[in-house]
Amino acid sequence: MGEAKRRKQFEHSDVQKAQLERVLEVAYRTTRAGMSAARAATAPAERRRELAEVHRQTGGLVDELTQQYFATDPNGQQTNESLACRRGCSFCCHVNVQVTVLEAVAIAEHLQDAADLKRSLLTAAPVTAGLRPAQRLDRRIPCPLLRDGACSIYAQRPRACRAHTSFNADWCEEALTCGDSAALPPVTSFAWPRTVSKAITHATTMALEHEQAQAIPVEMTQAVALILQDATAIERWLGGEAVFAPYRT
Ligand code: SF4
Repeated sequence: MGEAKRRKQFEHSDVQKAQLERVLEVAYRTTRAGMSAARAATAPAERRRELAEVHRQTGGLVDELTQQYFATDPNGQQTNESLACRRGCSFCCHVNVQVTVLEAVAIAEHLQDAADLKRSLLTAAPVTAGLRPAQRLDRRIPCPLLRDGACSIYAQRPRACRAHTSFNADWCEEALTCGDSAALPPVTSFAWPRTVSKAITHATTMALEHEQAQAIPVEMTQAVALILQDATAIERWLGGEAVFAPYRT
């Protein structure tokens, strides 16, 4: 992809601006509704299901609008063909993953019925605790949810994973294998999915703040491990406690 086209991906068309407005509105409304439903629920399991539903409804917007771009934008097809991301390529799945608390709840709910994945995540949590992103990458510690080079929770994967792309897998491999990833420039990626994801995060954060709940970005493995191991964590978070502060990214 030429430099002019690369720059153009940061300029939003009127269609994209309208799509971002809709994303902000949907994510804000869905989060407020999910929080209300969770607080009105009578059982902890029902509360967690209501919260998990928010990610199910909003996470897919990143995929949906990315596919729309590929199908309708004049540069869409060429951008799609330029991306190096393929099933089985997992160089990027060796990093800390930033999620909202609602995404962490959705993943924890998913793992309740997946004993093997749950065990992997709980084993990985103490190993990766406190590692900075570059340290985690340089130690080549894979995401505990990676299986045979593919994401085992693909439909529930975090937005950060949905939004991450690369135009060159060699760059991703070099970042993983060079031993000093912090010294490399960031991998160049397609901006639009990241923009959509950031809009969802922004609206979700605003909604959680309006709901008087801790609204910080957290590290996925640590936050999910806490939810799986501490039955009171979500109850306390709904009550306004700063439960996830140690896992802030
Ligand atoms: S959640 Fe899935 S896509 Fe994201 S880092 Fe883990 S294995 Fe990769």
